[in-house]
Amino acid sequence: VRTPVVVEEPALVEHMKWWGWGRESVSFSHSDKPDLAPFVRTNIGLDITRPPAQPPAFADLTIPDPTLPEPLRAALTAAVGAEHVHTDAHMRVVHAYGKSLRDLVRIRNADLGRLPDAVVYPDGEEAVRAVLAAALDADAVVIPFGGGSNISGSLEAPRGETRPVISVDLGRLDRVLEIDADARLARIQAGALGPHLEEQLNAQGWTLGHFPDSFSHSTLGGWIATRSSGMQSDKYGDIAEITRAVRVVTPAGVLATRPVPSQSTGPSVREMILGSEGRLGIITEATVQVHRVPEERVILGYFFPTWDDALVAMREIAESEASPTVTRVSDANETRFSFATRRKGSLASGLVSAGLKQYLRRVRNYDLEQMCLSFIGFEGTPAHVKAQRKLVGEIVGRHGGLCVGTGPGQLYDQKKFDTPYIRDFLLGQGAVADVSETSASWSQLGPLYRGVVARANKAFAEIGVDGWIMCHLSHSYHSGACLYFTFAYSSPVTLEAIEGYDTVKSAIQQGFLDLAGTLSHHHAVGVEHAPWLGDDISPAGVRLLTALFDGIDPGHNLNPGKII
Ligand code: FAD
Repeated sequence: VRTPVVVEEPALVEHMKWWGWGRESVSFSHSDKPDLAPFVRTNIGLDITRPPAQPPAFADLTIPDPTLPEPLRAALTAAVGAEHVHTDAHMRVVHAYGKSLRDLVRIRNADLGRLPDAVVYPDGEEAVRAVLAAALDADAVVIPFGGGSNISGSLEAPRGETRPVISVDLGRLDRVLEIDADARLARIQAGALGPHLEEQLNAQGWTLGHFPDSFSHSTLGGWIATRSSGMQSDKYGDIAEITRAVRVVTPAGVLATRPVPSQSTGPSVREMILGSEGRLGIITEATVQVHRVPEERVILGYFFPTWDDALVAMREIAESEASPTVTRVSDANETRFSFATRRKGSLASGLVSAGLKQYLRRVRNYDLEQMCLSFIGFEGTPAHVKAQRKLVGEIVGRHGGLCVGTGPGQLYDQKKFDTPYIRDFLLGQGAVADVSETSASWSQLGPLYRGVVARANKAFAEIGVDGWIMCHLSHSYHSGACLYFTFAYSSPVTLEAIEGYDTVKSAIQQGFLDLAGTLSHHHAVGVEHAPWLGDDISPAGVRLLTALFDGIDPGHNLNPGKII
């Protein structure tokens, strides 16, 4: 049964703050998280109770005039309509970069880099084709734009780019076009933001099941172009599995693959588009796996006595017949951070009552400094959820773990939307905070974790700061899992300070490669991770990708400089 989906015209895309994460109306508040200030003071020696420094006023920025030759402007206008070709300063700044730490520090220092000369909003594949043809005719650079949430430097034009730069915002392509209920596949336009896409699917009783922490501000096309992973990937898969077919406007014409469950057609062209970061063309739509909205969804909290116990338990859960949607466990540092950032008055705020602490210490022999908080999610029919909880409960119990109910589930849901706002707040206070993530096999995760923490601490010492590093495991697979590190330290938020940041970030990234991990599990390559690509996929792998990019885009018009 194929159902065309009819939706209301959405409101014009609301972009994120030009200088930071999320909606203009939302920011970090102390009253919400009273435990954070003492935590930050203790761990990185910074007082965050002062009024934060603000980003520069937009009016004070120096914005160069756009360079848009008249014939190109005319061709873009013919392609999308005059009201959908923007050359005003705000539009150009919003589309210039993503939300990496480097992006945010540079913005705070009014270092805007190479802005696009025009932002265009096509409304369908025909318009995208016309835009690309116009750009190639004029030898312009084309950069597809989804939500602008990437943190790998995947959007910015090279600084010295002398050709016109066109940002192609897919925001008007935001429809679920069709659902095939028998095949459990949906055709969805690439510019659909997470909430709008889920809303359309939910209205028919379906879900994509892809919930990255950036869900509110990222798009299907962006997820595909960066090989994204959502928190419930244990059940639903990464976007690489979820995406069954793509339509992409390339310089060689429209590339369309078939939405079949599997195929034997040589190297996978679908896979070539996954993670292509706009270098092979503009994704206009994808056919993706969808699932019935589950009857029940529960996220339970568990404590483990130590990180090592937790890692073994996660591995055994992955090996077992249990099929949780989420498996996540924080190391001892991240556990303490989670407690410090829970919202006042929430269910989760009573998570570690004095009574529970006493029980854990006296009866269970926990060292509370080493204790690790885990979230495990279950979905399905009530009977399925019950059986899964039992299986997981037995494994957790064998490793000294303890279920602490649904309160932490609330903490988990709340944290994923709050944490990005904390990063901007900390930048205003004079602290740098960023993330690096990898994946490795179960046999390598323990040594990789210890090695990366040691390297980060050495790097903190090298640049002379009291640094903080914490980690969680998430996204479990048959053979391994993702480790996600967050680090922070007090620092002037200046362009010069980026050098110190590079020392720490590079030490962590190099640690991943030296210790059998990959350069990124789900944040893609961009320019941030490009230096490690050869180590990751071997020089021959880099040659293959170079040939692919050069073959389809000999003029290097498509998002040049990313990945390689
Ligand atoms: P953009 O940032 O707009 O673009 C990213 C790249 O994709 C660019 O190279 C762009 O040219 C290309 N692109 C975008 N749309 C298209 C298209 N239609 N055709 C061709 N190329 C295109 N990532 C995760 O995977 N999981 C997470 O949980 C997660 N959490 C995050 C939390 C925060 C706070 C932040 C800031 C980022 C997070 N990210 C996460 C990273 C980011 O959200 C992802 O990389 C996301 O997939 C980017 O999607 P986007 O629509 O914002 O793409």
